[in-house]
Amino acid sequence: MADPAAPLFPRIAIIGLGLIGSSLARCFKEQAGLAGEVVAGDRSEAVCARVLELGLAARAETDPARAVAGADLVILAVPIGAYAGLAEAIGPHLKPGAIVTDVGSVKQAAVRDVAPHLPEGVHFVPGHPIAGTEHSGPDAGFASLFKGRWCILTPPPGTDAGAVEAVSELWRRVGSMVEVMEPGHHDRVLAITSHLPHLIAYTIVGTATDLEEHLKAEVIRFSASGFRDFTRIAASDPVMWRDIFLNNREAVLEIIQRFTEDLTALQRAIRWGEADTLEDLFTRTRAIRRGIIDAKQA
Ligand code: NAP
Repeated sequence: MADPAAPLFPRIAIIGLGLIGSSLARCFKEQAGLAGEVVAGDRSEAVCARVLELGLAARAETDPARAVAGADLVILAVPIGAYAGLAEAIGPHLKPGAIVTDVGSVKQAAVRDVAPHLPEGVHFVPGHPIAGTEHSGPDAGFASLFKGRWCILTPPPGTDAGAVEAVSELWRRVGSMVEVMEPGHHDRVLAITSHLPHLIAYTIVGTATDLEEHLKAEVIRFSASGFRDFTRIAASDPVMWRDIFLNNREAVLEIIQRFTEDLTALQRAIRWGEADTLEDLFTRTRAIRRGIIDAKQA
């Protein structure tokens, strides 16, 4: 019989101790029963030193192969563009029966780049916590980040059910609700709920950046009228977002096409003074906000 006092995973290796990786490390530190031991892996020596200073791991390694050796669970928490190289580097060093999971924001690319490098007998359970902030690095993390938030898992067909359950249990214990989804479906849903809004924010803030100096100063001064909220989103990590757009290209391009058509329709309504069109849309969108508040995701 399983020892009820035993941790869910005797050893967890986290690769990438930024916002998400260090938030998970903080959860494992605060909550007994999740990880017997945490090993950190980050290519940056400064991050490794900071992680040890914060007491977030027993060991910190710049070599990912050393970080994952002997780990029961490996969590990839680096930008998507780093996945293929990282998976290739750790593949031969994974313990038989180990579970590999990730937190990346695009799931088809995660399967494409990681799965081919994993040896027989290692289970891959891709995941994506729908939680985050615009801050990066090991000091940005906090243990309550995942509380009350969704975590979407996208295990490829045939994935070991025990491995999916173990990863689900981990997310539930850090406070998340878990949903299992097909990777392509995840990528289409996130293209509209997350990727397009970020692209719009980057565009608006970019447009303001290109304004003449006197206008730019006024934009900052009166930013509370709406612009400010976009600047928060547009302050998100540039490398992470570069990789999201390049790796969810098809779904993002499709949603930009639809968005452009809708924007053109609005442009037309404004030009021709179609008051009802505008009011109808703004009334419908208000209801969406109420739905999000009711679902406690505000
Ligand atoms: P982050 O704060 O920028 O941290 C990423 C860390 O990984 C950095 O320390 C980085 O080091 C390190 N790293 C990069 N490439 C590496 C490699 N090849 N090997 C080892 N370490 C490497 O990033 P984050 O916001 O936590 O995002 C991590 C992942 O979570 C991304 O895939 C992202 O899509 C996903 N995610 C993010 C959010 C969010 O809101 N931020 C939400 C949900 C999911 P350097 O500084 O040297 O590059």
